[in-house]
Amino acid sequence: MIALTKGLDNKCCDCGVALHKREIDGELDGRYSDYGEHEQGDMHLKFCSGCWGRIKEILKRDQGDAILKRKELEREGAKKEIPKLDFPDVAIDDIRTPDPNGVGM
Ligand SMILES: [Zn+2]
Repeated sequence: MIALTKGLDNKCCDCGVALHKREIDGELDGRYSDYGEHEQGDMHLKFCSGCWGRIKEILKRDQGDAILKRKELEREGAKKEIPKLDFPDVAIDDIRTPDPNGVGM
């Protein structure tokens, strides 16, 4: 059992699989803002090759593709979960508007 787990000191922050160091295909290192928990901090994320490749593909696509994907999910009747919005009484366009007083997140 020790031989099977030796060196599995990392994990993919997307799919959660344990990784040997040589299996890490991409990393993100920087600041984060958690709007739900109202906190900020630093984060260092590691990814397996499959998840890193998928993230890079998503980043290459433009916003029009993202809107079409959302419309497709809505048409399918949420076969896949559509991201939930915490502020149902607020219009979608208002949610990511910066706080004019600069005190909130
Ligand atoms: Zn992964």
